Amino acid sequence: MKELHTGRLYWPTTLAVSRNHTSLKENIKTTVAIVGGGMSGVTCAYVLASGGMDVVLIERGKIAEGSTSANTGLLQFCNDVMLVDLIKQIGRGPAETFYTHCKKAVEQLAAVAQSLPVDVGYRDRSSLYFASSEQDLPKLKKEYEALAACGFDVEYWTPDKIALHFPFRKSGAIVTHGDAEVNPYQFVNGLTDAAQLAGTRIFEETDVNNLQTLEDGIHHLHTSLGYTIEAEHVIYAVGYEPEELRGRLVKANLNRSYAIVTGVQSHLESWHKRFMLWETARPYLYTRTTIDDRIVVGGLDEETEQPVHSQQTISRRSKQLMEKLLALFPDIQPTVEYEWSATFGESQDNLPFIGEDPKWPNVYYSLGYGGNGTVYSMIAAHLLLDLIQGKGGQHPLTEIVSLSRASLTDS
Ligand SMILES: Cc1cc2nc3c(=O)[nH]c(=O)nc-3n(C[C@H](O)[C@H](O)[C@H](O)COP(=O)(O)OP(=O)(O)OC[C@H]3O[C@@H](n4cnc5c(N)ncnc54)[C@H](O)[C@@H]3O)c2cc1C
Repeated sequence: MKELHTGRLYWPTTLAVSRNHTSLKENIKTTVAIVGGGMSGVTCAYVLASGGMDVVLIERGKIAEGSTSANTGLLQFCNDVMLVDLIKQIGRGPAETFYTHCKKAVEQLAAVAQSLPVDVGYRDRSSLYFASSEQDLPKLKKEYEALAACGFDVEYWTPDKIALHFPFRKSGAIVTHGDAEVNPYQFVNGLTDAAQLAGTRIFEETDVNNLQTLEDGIHHLHTSLGYTIEAEHVIYAVGYEPEELRGRLVKANLNRSYAIVTGVQSHLESWHKRFMLWETARPYLYTRTTIDDRIVVGGLDEETEQPVHSQQTISRRSKQLMEKLLALFPDIQPTVEYEWSATFGESQDNLPFIGEDPKWPNVYYSLGYGGNGTVYSMIAAHLLLDLIQGKGGQHPLTEIVSLSRASLTDS
């Protein structure tokens, strides 16, 4: 199994009991087989099963223990690629459509999280996106204008306004309303229960090691234990393991990132309305709080795929993240309680890979590469539901995120 994270993760410690699912020990048939039991696969299973489809979900290890458990749980409609840059890249209409659907996906995630019978740490939040330097200010202002013109609920904050609400001063910031935070591990576990209730058959410890398509178009997924899943449609939701797709299609850069979670803070009064904070620099620093009054900080991305094994290196990076946090909030006195490093994937054009394989009918991908992976998971679930039910042409993002889009084939 590929190692996707190292260190001490926080989210798995917050779930008292996680349900176990058996491994597959017989041959079965289904309409849709989903490979991968992380955020992407489980969201897809939930949406498809709730849409009345017969779904089987297969996870090689345990549900939510891939990069989903290293996810820092910010749900934002603004992307790693700023709207002004995306407009240059794909044109105003498609860029605004993409951003609008990211917003819609955050709302869909909210509706699902709030419908679960357990609290999964979901809270509505606003975000403060600040200029990392004076040089970034003109672009930040243009971004504000582009977001406002697109109808998003955004504000532009001056240095004085920032300093009025936070113990730091920046040369400018955009405040976006309508974002949210979640505990990704609790969310995916809760969603797995809901997907199962909706009829999904779930198998853990079941490794799909081969996919064979028969002449009649039916797919046979073979597991390492020698069983077969016969499926009309197959969705790969294998996260940052593009090697699982045997070199097909995906043009991605795999990096590694770092995150820390502090001990419980008794004083967070200086943290205005628990905003989620991030910045214009790339790679960027980001930080948020949790419902049990901890602080999550992430960033320091490096151009290496392998998560770090040396405790010394992880501790050094944690110290750097802590210093950046203290530069923003000198009044708090946090200690690092959890720290990890994790593989992080970005596509070459900053858009996720969602859709049908152009050369392999009824094989689909839900690969939400980028910092908004959770939001992309929800977009993918609805787009794939439409595609499988034969309504693909109607989903406005089909061309923008497809695996045969121009930006992937041209480069
Ligand atoms: C440090 C960090 C912070 C992040 N922060 C955020 C954030 O704040 N907000 C956000 O939206 N996103 C964030 N992300 C991105 C987010 O974590 C990912 O987009 C998301 O978790 C990926 O989910 P997934 O289901 O695609 O992948 P995974 O969770 O990795 O799940 C894929 C699963 O597929 C299984 N699998 C693979 N091959 C097979 C096979 N052959 N047979 C059976 N099973 C298989 C794996 O075992 C794995 O469990 C962050 C990522 C990192 C690393």
